[in-house]
Amino acid sequence: MLTGKHLIAGEWVGSDATFASEPAHGPSHDFSVGTAALVDSAVEAAEAAFATFGWSSRTERATLLRMIADEIDARGDAITEIGTQETGLPEARLQGERGRTVGQLRLFADHIEAGDYLDIRHDPAMPDRAPLPRPDLRMIQRPLGPVAVFGASNFPLAFSVAGGDTAAAIAAGCPVVVKGHSAHPGTGEIVAQAIDAAIKATGVHPGVFSLVQGGKRDVGTRLVQHPLIRAVGFTGSLGGGRALFDLCAQREEPIPFFGELGSVNPMFILPQAAAARGAEIGTGWAASLTMGAGQFCTNPGVAVIIEGPDADAFQSAAQTGLSSVADQTMLTDGIASAYRDGVSRVAAGTGVSKVMGTSCATRDAAPYLFTVAGDDWLADKKLQEEVFGPLGIIVRVKDVSQMQQIARAIEGQLTCTLHLDAGDKPEAQALLPLLERKAGRLLANSFPTGVEVCDSMVHGGPYPASTNFGATSVGTLSIRRFLRPVCYQGIPTDLLPEKL
Ligand code: NAP
Repeated sequence: MLTGKHLIAGEWVGSDATFASEPAHGPSHDFSVGTAALVDSAVEAAEAAFATFGWSSRTERATLLRMIADEIDARGDAITEIGTQETGLPEARLQGERGRTVGQLRLFADHIEAGDYLDIRHDPAMPDRAPLPRPDLRMIQRPLGPVAVFGASNFPLAFSVAGGDTAAAIAAGCPVVVKGHSAHPGTGEIVAQAIDAAIKATGVHPGVFSLVQGGKRDVGTRLVQHPLIRAVGFTGSLGGGRALFDLCAQREEPIPFFGELGSVNPMFILPQAAAARGAEIGTGWAASLTMGAGQFCTNPGVAVIIEGPDADAFQSAAQTGLSSVADQTMLTDGIASAYRDGVSRVAAGTGVSKVMGTSCATRDAAPYLFTVAGDDWLADKKLQEEVFGPLGIIVRVKDVSQMQQIARAIEGQLTCTLHLDAGDKPEAQALLPLLERKAGRLLANSFPTGVEVCDSMVHGGPYPASTNFGATSVGTLSIRRFLRPVCYQGIPTDLLPEKL
């Protein structure tokens, strides 16, 4: 069933060199290594496809999106089988993520059919206006052209080959070239087979989608530098994302890089809530922190609470919760190794005490819990860096005022959470304006893992949570990343885009 090849505009193409996949369990397979020349072919085909796809009807694109979803569902068992082998994620997680992935595709189909996203504006001509007449002016959102998407390691389906970035770009009318993540090349290939089948069934231009497998850095570099690529969607590390973002900015014609990078998703536990249910919050935190071995961008890695017996109760419950979690397999050896480095970095921080945690075997992650005083956390910027895995830091602050200092000091976040009771209103009122400037999503009395795919979701935030704080990479608003407003002045109506 696997070809081990790249999908370039409807053709399965091999290359000279191969790399072997490194599954957590099950057989390894060989895959062709991506090359800059393959990127060039894929992007040129995408540009050729844009000539028709960019002017396709919303009905045609909705049909394609729904067909891709159906073709993915038809391959569900094969995707789950290889996906669990490659990533080590449990079967139920892969099935759930597939449900989310096809749900996103169908949601975008409904969204573009409704048409509101086009944000159409019309200022009719005023030929008799004095002193100058006004021409007829109309505005609509138009697709950008070929879009590059980097498959993310931690969501082999929902943020990968046919994930949210691809769905949003196709919905907008942009052909897509995906750089597959080498952590799950087989999963990526089967999903690409589903997209290929849908493209052939609907008869759209084959250049609308290509998958270039990874294996070498020059694939990603060429992709973001190719002059015909108009925008990039990325989820991954701060270092990798920043390097690619800088390449986009250094191009002769810079392009937008929509990178979703690191976030520690701090939780602020306000005094009344800590007193009433500190232990309950600690237990819930432990569950959120260890979900999926902590490999979620919304993992709440930092909890801020006022020093004292309520903080002790919170910490003790978190420790009990974390102790009951068995070691979990991480997505790749590299991610497991980065986790161990993160543990060492936090452990070496001034004033940091380890509450619990044992050493982790090669690809397994055990939970770690550390505690640090507010002053020490504020003095050490390294403690703000994301540790990708089930590691929590409890920041024990002196008082509400130091909690506000922490809120002022944190970098941009995907999420910030308040745990509060009715009596905490004044503290919450003081914190919210600070946190609103820092995060894309603010929560009360819940945990940030589990991102709803819907109209009002914002999965983004100020840097380094994302490289573009006006955008989201989850939910229907994410389509705006791949559109730009165009104004048509006095253009005859039969020459205007659909609906305008
Ligand atoms: P990554 O190293 O940033 O890689 C993501 C993608 O970008 C891969 O396809 C990679 O290609 C490519 N890439 C990275 N740096 C590049 C460069 N300088 N030039 C060209 N291409 C480049 O992320 P990852 O492999 O998914 O995981 C590594 C770490 O990222 C994790 O340990 C974790 O810290 C973080 N991470 C964070 C999130 C989050 O949501 N915050 C999600 C996933 C991962 P190659 O594979 O060919 O190198």
